[in-house]
Amino acid sequence: MKVKNITALPHYGCGCGTWLKHWEKFSAKKSAQCAVPDCNTVAAVGAHIQKANTDDEAWYVVPLCQTHSESVDEMEISAEYKLVPADTNLTCERW
Ligand SMILES: [Zn+2]
Ligand SMILES: [Zn+2]
Repeated sequence: MKVKNITALPHYGCGCGTWLKHWEKFSAKKSAQCAVPDCNTVAAVGAHIQKANTDDEAWYVVPLCQTHSESVDEMEISAEYKLVPADTNLTCERW
């Protein structure tokens, strides 16, 4: 799946502590590595991304390494990584 970074990072946080924890919680996985295939770097952040080439403008969180989280190009990410909504009303602040 192709995605692009949202470079204007939100200044708000969420109750999970970090966005990487947010991703772990709602994907029910431990983030080990950057979601970009062939990148064997440990994920540094829960990056905010949007799907490229779709009408879906929602923001999602995926684990990325520092380099890829700063990339301005569209990136292919592994299908094994679930896109967790960044909207806290849909996730950690749902109740
Ligand atoms: Zn959260
Ligand atoms: Zn990477």
